[in-house]
Amino acid sequence: MDVAKRLVREHSLTREDALQLLADAKNPETAALLAKEAVKLRRAHYGDKVFARGLIEFTNYCKNNCYYCGIRRGNGHVARYRLTEEEVLSCCGKGYRLGLRTFVLQGGEDPYYTDEKIAGLVRKVKEAYPACALTLSIGEKPRRSYRMFREAGADRYLLRHETADPDHYRFLHPQPMSLEARKGCLYDLKDLGYQVGAGFMVGSPGQTAECLASDLVFLQELNPHMVGIGPFVPHRDTRFAQEPAGSVELTLFLLSVVRILLPKALLPATTALGTLDLQGREKGLAAGANVVMPNLTPERNRKQYDLYDHKACTGEESAEGLADLSKRVALAGCQLAWERGDCQGWPEKGP
Ligand code: SAH
Repeated sequence: MDVAKRLVREHSLTREDALQLLADAKNPETAALLAKEAVKLRRAHYGDKVFARGLIEFTNYCKNNCYYCGIRRGNGHVARYRLTEEEVLSCCGKGYRLGLRTFVLQGGEDPYYTDEKIAGLVRKVKEAYPACALTLSIGEKPRRSYRMFREAGADRYLLRHETADPDHYRFLHPQPMSLEARKGCLYDLKDLGYQVGAGFMVGSPGQTAECLASDLVFLQELNPHMVGIGPFVPHRDTRFAQEPAGSVELTLFLLSVVRILLPKALLPATTALGTLDLQGREKGLAAGANVVMPNLTPERNRKQYDLYDHKACTGEESAEGLADLSKRVALAGCQLAWERGDCQGWPEKGP
């Protein structure tokens, strides 16, 4: 409890503090104290606003083989798809008419989508919807590619670091992937003026309190604009099929801690949280999150973007669905905001 109080006072944690805090994570009083502070800080920077992002999962082809992920290259049971440029634009159009002002293009690392194709797509989306922010989430690329996408108009980039412990990283990812390369990408993205999102899974196989302490220390060092934190959920066609899912409570606890460490961060109440707990996203908001990501992927492809088992498909992309989401957000004491929702204080240097 003492270390939680210190976190509330100082908004920072050493590695030792983080370990002590994690040892206290199951204490409901500590969790409540941190959630209260997290909500207070969110309110100070963003009022009661919760930002909506239209998620477009535009390809499930992937050249990587991350051991936990359902769409990894080695999974032969996946029906692969990729959306055409026209289909992506039509998803954006649907989202725009519903009032969304951020689109997130997420996919596997699909070699079909060359840098030129991605840059062209970014340009088209930004031309058609200049009032909207565009986020990319397409994995590790050389700095020159990130620069090209940025020059084409991309505003934000999501690349979870997954775990800040190098051995744990190797346990979750085959060669040649490395934590060093992942971190290098995140620093490149920051340097190029993106709003950058890092993040990690909670309860991934092999994760220890030491790993989570490293995650918290790394996040303070990187100081990203966004942090995606969701529970690990096993997928039937992976080596981790029999592993238990991550804890919803610990995920909520860590959301509060990260809100306090990075008060201006945009923190999504993730789909994985909503998958493990019907009230997961509302609980996420109550723990300090301030972003929701309704899915704009065409119905027929949504099931195929199969990162983990039983992924929630809530039909929020319809007008009724969004009205329902808006009600749920209001029940959590917040308001769904129909705006770009940039990180407070961005850009640090010209966009
Ligand atoms: N190719 C992109 C997008 C990856 S999918 C990239 O590399 O960034 C988006 C996120 O889903 C991943 O970063 C990972 O944290 C999460 N994810 C993948 N498999 C998962 C699983 N089994 N359980 C929970 N989250 C998972």
